[in-house]
Amino acid sequence: MSFVITTPLYYVNDKPHLGSVYTTIICDVIARYKRLVGENVIFITGVDEHGLKIQRTAIEKRVEPMAHCDEISEIFKVNWKNWNISFDKFIRTSSKHHEMVVNEFYERVKGSDDIYMGVQKGWYCVGCEEFKDNPENSKTYKCPIHQRNLEWKNEENLFFRLSKYQEQIEKIINNPTFIEPIERRNEIINFVSRGLKDFSISRTNVSWGIPVPDHNNHTFYVWFDALLGYVSAISSNGTDNSLEMSINGGWPADIHLIGKDILRFHAVYWPAMLISAGMKVPKKVLGHGFLTREGQKMGKSLGNVLDPDILLSKYGNDPVRWYLIKDISLGNDGDFQDKRFVDIINNDLANTIGNLLNRTLSMSRKWFDNKVPNIEKISSENKLKYLAKISVEKYINKLDIYKLDQAANEVLSLAINTNLYLNDNQPWLLIKENDKLPLVKEIIYDVLESTRIIGLLLLPLLPELSSKIDIQLGSMYQKEIPWKDQLRWGLLISNSTLPQPDPIINKLEYE
Ligand SMILES: [Zn+2]
Repeated sequence: MSFVITTPLYYVNDKPHLGSVYTTIICDVIARYKRLVGENVIFITGVDEHGLKIQRTAIEKRVEPMAHCDEISEIFKVNWKNWNISFDKFIRTSSKHHEMVVNEFYERVKGSDDIYMGVQKGWYCVGCEEFKDNPENSKTYKCPIHQRNLEWKNEENLFFRLSKYQEQIEKIINNPTFIEPIERRNEIINFVSRGLKDFSISRTNVSWGIPVPDHNNHTFYVWFDALLGYVSAISSNGTDNSLEMSINGGWPADIHLIGKDILRFHAVYWPAMLISAGMKVPKKVLGHGFLTREGQKMGKSLGNVLDPDILLSKYGNDPVRWYLIKDISLGNDGDFQDKRFVDIINNDLANTIGNLLNRTLSMSRKWFDNKVPNIEKISSENKLKYLAKISVEKYINKLDIYKLDQAANEVLSLAINTNLYLNDNQPWLLIKENDKLPLVKEIIYDVLESTRIIGLLLLPLLPELSSKIDIQLGSMYQKEIPWKDQLRWGLLISNSTLPQPDPIINKLEYE
């Protein structure tokens, strides 16, 4: 059994923006966590390359569409490497392999008698690559997302019989775990209750697309082709019968993580297409919110777009990840505020987690010759051990239901409690009394042990910081031993040598 998680396949009109970075980081956290608990993860990302918008962008740039796509898809790949994203598959929808899967899929859908020729009339947004339902005053109506005029289309298209699947789709979306969060689910239930209409799956005026095998002048509608990227990604090395290979190789997806603007495609059209092809539907569609900056929508015209490349080079991976994971409740909209960012990183990572490690290591250095204190045995009745156990349990429960912000807060609260434990026990006073040495040893051991667990809990959230903490504690983490087993209290080796201290996180300045 595999655990398949996907980011959206990003449209290659531009390099990744902060929203795509956010989505991809969230998927990365979930993928890393699932690997740690022993799942066979297939983490899929990639690019969606076809369609009228790309065709026009390429014409404006005076290059071939493929040359444009090569350039942008490479930028995406490099970006995900820079952000330390642990993806397993990167799919390009312009690949030959993908085209083969689309053709095989199309044959299946045709075999279910779900394709027919019809006429498509309506107002179209090229930005969305989507028909808008009968906007009033269409001549002056602009797409609310793209703020541009719609275009009138009247052409022969192939249609998919979505209406046939009304009841089946209702049944699927009524399952409360299929669409999350609940607000998103309600939107879709509403949409579906108005009655599903067949939708067109081909175009006659778009050359930059996959040709429809039995209709020479048609290419597949970009969404029909792009959604199948999730499937073709699984069998990315296959040749013949690739669709079959994908079905046997891990399909269906366990989670499609997407922005709320493309929910309809994933939660309605896509499941119907899959049922028609005799395939399983995804288990969950998680719709996240939009990101604003200082309370304002980000946009080129407003000149307030936050460039993720600049964030990464200025602050590094861990601070940006921590902010996006902890400050945004997955499913809700999020806001990036410069001051708040600096405050959160300084409070949580520098003052709480970084400082906890620093002060404890410096005491170990001074009093125990740069070693983990040599203790007789690990006491069974121990306040910190109890607190760590509770935090670990809560953290796992939260990650199991994708409450990433709450899981992050659980790690933070263990770090706060550990600092308090140190402050309450005041080993720097006890060390002055000769007979208190065994007690001081126990206290320092406990704090180091709790810090080790904090580092392990950070592994899916902040892999780089987690590894730095581990190194400072003498590289205790062992890949070949199940991660959950290593969350048990008391595994830090008494009397083992600690390496030279090295700061794990720097404080940020607010400009
Ligand atoms: Zn639009």
